[in-house]
Amino acid sequence: METKKNIPTLKDMKQVYEAYTEEDHKVWKILFDRQIVNLPEAATREYLIGLEKINFTADQIPNFEETNEILRSLTGWELVAVEGIVDDGLFFELMSNKKFPATTWLRKMSELDYLEEPDMFHDVFAHVPLLTNQAFVDFLQAISQIGHDHADDPVAIDLLSRVYWFTVEFGLIRENGEPRIYGAGILSSAGETEFSLSPEPRHFEYHVEQILNTPYRKDIFQDRYFIIDSYEQLYNSIDEIKRGLNEKVKKLLIFG
Ligand code: FE
Repeated sequence: METKKNIPTLKDMKQVYEAYTEEDHKVWKILFDRQIVNLPEAATREYLIGLEKINFTADQIPNFEETNEILRSLTGWELVAVEGIVDDGLFFELMSNKKFPATTWLRKMSELDYLEEPDMFHDVFAHVPLLTNQAFVDFLQAISQIGHDHADDPVAIDLLSRVYWFTVEFGLIRENGEPRIYGAGILSSAGETEFSLSPEPRHFEYHVEQILNTPYRKDIFQDRYFIIDSYEQLYNSIDEIKRGLNEKVKKLLIFG
């Protein structure tokens, strides 16, 4: 979940495609080539299908206008360009309206492996292919609507962030009996792609209450991942998320 920097207006933000330098295109190609080889054995097939539908290639930084034409026709979603991390209120408001905030800048050649905050390789390469999947975006929209409804309640937002974190960012899905990755935080990291599927971290079944009770860290590989059976399962858990969130907020208010 993204906090801190406030983007007061989005109206004047757009991707200036001509502004990408040769280094930008090279960085995109290196990151793309390096990660794409890991994905056939690791990523959910819905990601791989989405990647083809959305037409991303190593040779070209995605053009938001072209990407949006495809996305709109498939699920009605679109990307909106943002400068960087947007505050939670705006983040959820945008997504409850089927708008996915994405940065347009790319890391430098000197920071291929370490980044202070998500760049376009994370926001676009890792997140966008799954935005072609209807059940997944229905979940994303519904969870964002919950966030939007609780925008003035930082406790609720913190709890909801856990659900977002362990699904949209760091979720696994079982396919043919094997765990596969759908979380974008993993898909944009070659290291965590390997680690998340290894025997080292703990693998739990998707469990809303357990996730609501699980704080997370952003600065390390996760030590646990939650596995869903289908994207419909996520969408079908929305009422449970709402209920669990309200109960937990109430308890925290009473008992501190
Ligand atoms: Fe992300």
